[in-house]
Amino acid sequence: MKSDMKIVIIGAGVAGLSIGWRLRQAGAEVTILERAQPASGATWASAGMIALAAELETSPPVEVDFARQSNALWPGFAREIEEESGQAVGYERSGALLLSDDAVAMAGRAAADTDLTFLTAEEVRARWPMLSGEYSGGLWARHEAHVDNRALGRALAIAFLKAGGVLKPAEAAVNLEYRGRRITGVLTPFTRYHGNAVLLAAGAWSGQVVQLPVTPVKGEMIALTPPPDAEFDFVGPVVWGQGVYLVPRGGRLLVGATVEEVGFDTSLSDGAVRHLRQKAEAVIPGLARWRLDEHWAGLRPGTPDGLPLLGPSHEQGLFIASGQYRNGILFAPAIAQLMADMIRGRAEPIDAFDPRRFPGAKP
Ligand SMILES: Cc1cc2nc3c(=O)[nH]c(=O)nc-3n(C[C@H](O)[C@H](O)[C@H](O)COP(=O)(O)OP(=O)(O)OC[C@H]3O[C@@H](n4cnc5c(N)ncnc54)[C@H](O)[C@@H]3O)c2cc1C
Repeated sequence: MKSDMKIVIIGAGVAGLSIGWRLRQAGAEVTILERAQPASGATWASAGMIALAAELETSPPVEVDFARQSNALWPGFAREIEEESGQAVGYERSGALLLSDDAVAMAGRAAADTDLTFLTAEEVRARWPMLSGEYSGGLWARHEAHVDNRALGRALAIAFLKAGGVLKPAEAAVNLEYRGRRITGVLTPFTRYHGNAVLLAAGAWSGQVVQLPVTPVKGEMIALTPPPDAEFDFVGPVVWGQGVYLVPRGGRLLVGATVEEVGFDTSLSDGAVRHLRQKAEAVIPGLARWRLDEHWAGLRPGTPDGLPLLGPSHEQGLFIASGQYRNGILFAPAIAQLMADMIRGRAEPIDAFDPRRFPGAKP
């Protein structure tokens, strides 16, 4: 596929890989520079939830609309990645259950949103008897899903490479190249890469490449495995309760997540394990017998207003796809489509997500 459009992308997370893949499918020449290994950042650390009801309860309508649009794209996106890569991504529309003590608020939300159903505590217990009785009911979000984010990262990298994209692992962008006031490429310790456009998709590290209001927000998670004689096998929906979420994944139960602003520190703490286990056991008491299988941390890309940065920057030739905070997996198909269209000049940024809503670097 010959093209006169050359794009250089900084960062091979879910954002950089999926936008790069879509651009490549549209005929652009795409090179992705990745400081470490593909999909080893927040994309790897994530819980892979495609979560609307719990994550977006207080979000502005523009973000809720974007999330709904992305959720609708997810089944086709997952299928296409699997077909192109030959790898399963574990997309499951298993629904989500949000446990709460506030029956009135839950009934109100269910009345206002046809995607949500209010279940009484008895109805919840009848369907999921392993759950504790410490709640007055649950909101059932039947359209919600989750994906194996680690498998997704691997599959996206393969799909991008199979489409003819160029991926440079262990090669960090250290500077941008300017011609006059326009950015024309990226410098790495080894060489320079020219492009008609550069896309910055470096997750929580985006603000280290250019001045951007993106800050790292640390999250620790754990995975539990059942004992051989476990009384129950939890393969049901994602469950939210007690300030944590439980995600069934490949025979394990993922429990997340802490939220801390401590810079780029990703050290692991025993306190986080205790906190997550205690909360998980308050939701499902039988988890007390489950074994700790893994403990990890990752950095979410946060922004001052909690909304993503998607679109052109103050610098000519430089686009941004960052600041997805807790929703980078949920948003992935919609971001891939929007950013690929925008970079090709076929779409305008969404005002509320326009990176230029924040001031640029001082001249
Ligand atoms: C604990 C936790 C749980 C989460 N759970 C969910 C969830 O359930 N659902 C959901 O939707 N979202 C979730 N998220 C958020 C989601 O993971 C992120 O929003 C998303 O992964 C961001 O994707 P990204 O591609 O922008 O960033 P990343 O995946 O972090 O990728 C950025 C990449 O850029 C690379 N990079 C950085 N600097 C440079 C440079 N100078 N040169 C080259 N490469 C560079 C990094 O090495 C990295 O690979 C969670 C996050 C965490 C931490």
